[in-house]
Amino acid sequence: MKAIIIGSGLGGLLSAAKLSKAGHDVEVFEQLPLIGGRFTNITYKGFQLSTGALHMIPHGPSGPLARLLNDVGAEVTIVREKPAAVIRIPRKRGDTDYKFGHKDLLFEDFKLPFSLINRIKLAFYIIYTRKNPPTEGSFDEWCTKHIEQEWSHRISDSFFGWALSLRSSDVPVEEAFEIIENLYRYGGAGVPLGGCKAITDALAGIIRANGGIIHTSAEVTKIVTDNGGIKGVVSEGQKYISDLVISDIGHSATVDLLDSDAESTEMQNYINETKKLKPSAGVKICLSSDKPLIGHGGVLLTPYAKRINGINEVTNMDPALAPAGKHLTMSHQCVCEGDIDELEKEIELGLRDLEDIFAGKNYEVLLIQSYSNGWPVNRSSSGTDLTNSTPVRNLFVVGDGAKGKGGIEVEGVALGVEQTMKEILE
Ligand code: FAD
Repeated sequence: MKAIIIGSGLGGLLSAAKLSKAGHDVEVFEQLPLIGGRFTNITYKGFQLSTGALHMIPHGPSGPLARLLNDVGAEVTIVREKPAAVIRIPRKRGDTDYKFGHKDLLFEDFKLPFSLINRIKLAFYIIYTRKNPPTEGSFDEWCTKHIEQEWSHRISDSFFGWALSLRSSDVPVEEAFEIIENLYRYGGAGVPLGGCKAITDALAGIIRANGGIIHTSAEVTKIVTDNGGIKGVVSEGQKYISDLVISDIGHSATVDLLDSDAESTEMQNYINETKKLKPSAGVKICLSSDKPLIGHGGVLLTPYAKRINGINEVTNMDPALAPAGKHLTMSHQCVCEGDIDELEKEIELGLRDLEDIFAGKNYEVLLIQSYSNGWPVNRSSSGTDLTNSTPVRNLFVVGDGAKGKGGIEVEGVALGVEQTMKEILE
């Protein structure tokens, strides 16, 4: 079988590695001169910055991505150390920002700021919801109804802002509880040694070793169909024939490339669904320092910041991601749909947060990156993803525009690829 993959992001490379390992011919087309999409490194002033991800694998060495990498034979080391996450709160109870000092709580102690009655309720809901996961409304609405306290909104906005680049009011409660269940199941985050590029390079190596081809600077401009099924693609004016096409560019962009119009009701419904999809947006600020700003390899959640949701310092896990004697710290903040037109203001607020969070510490701002529209944090915001299939026979969509349920970021990408491979190979 001949498979064409559009896009060399993580989803495209995982699919191509899996298919090529199963003995199929694969050909990957990437529009950029580099491989890896939003999951590779860019060297800047000796630092290994990234095109997207903060060099973090949400479930570390035991999650769905690690399982799939192991399955295709990718030699990558993902390290996970304790603490996996820490929450920064103001030093004095009642303060609502970090201006007058702060203290850090281990993530497992997130219940402490709740009132006694809410801690009792929480203990009940932790057990009850595992058997009876809620299904209606957003996570924020669920909190308002069941554990109403300012802290429940702050900690959930910070966690989902960091993990999904969404406010908790934009996360469907069903997806939120799937994510919580996966945290129990697979554990917390880890860092791949060598950063994102170590993973995407390992996958590219496997594809090539299995005889696959990866074209760079090769944009796909058309998906060719015939009688409701796949015929191939057009790239750089040339037609390439294949039995199946896997698109790593999200459902909406895939629809834009289709040569056929909405002939059937099924196709019209699909196109309408893709129009409803909303990407999630965000801002990443990369800092350099001589001394550690955080001092551990886990995530620092910042529920009392105005914009920043969380920060990591990956050099505590892999010093090679920065020049000798330097640290690389990255903050993430979600940008709500209505604020995308005011990115400069959002960035300014993020920078001011960092001044409060790291008051008295020396650091340099290395790079500020913003992500929206065609280069977003997620092509469809978590919990709203469509499936990996399309109405066109043998046309599939993978990547963060079609994540598996409960999969945070690249874990969702891996779950979606696993599901797609089941449909194709079994
Ligand atoms: P992409 O990486 O976007 O790959 C798609 C590729 O297709 C691109 O290379 C693009 O150039 C190419 N392409 C597009 N159109 C065409 C065409 N017509 N022809 C040919 N090629 C085409 N995830 C984590 O797990 N941990 C994190 O710490 C994390 N942090 C993040 C922080 C930020 C700021 C951002 C933006 C993302 C973060 N993510 C994180 C998410 C993660 O980076 C993405 O989910 C993942 O990289 C998406 O991979 P993909 O395969 O879906 O798509």
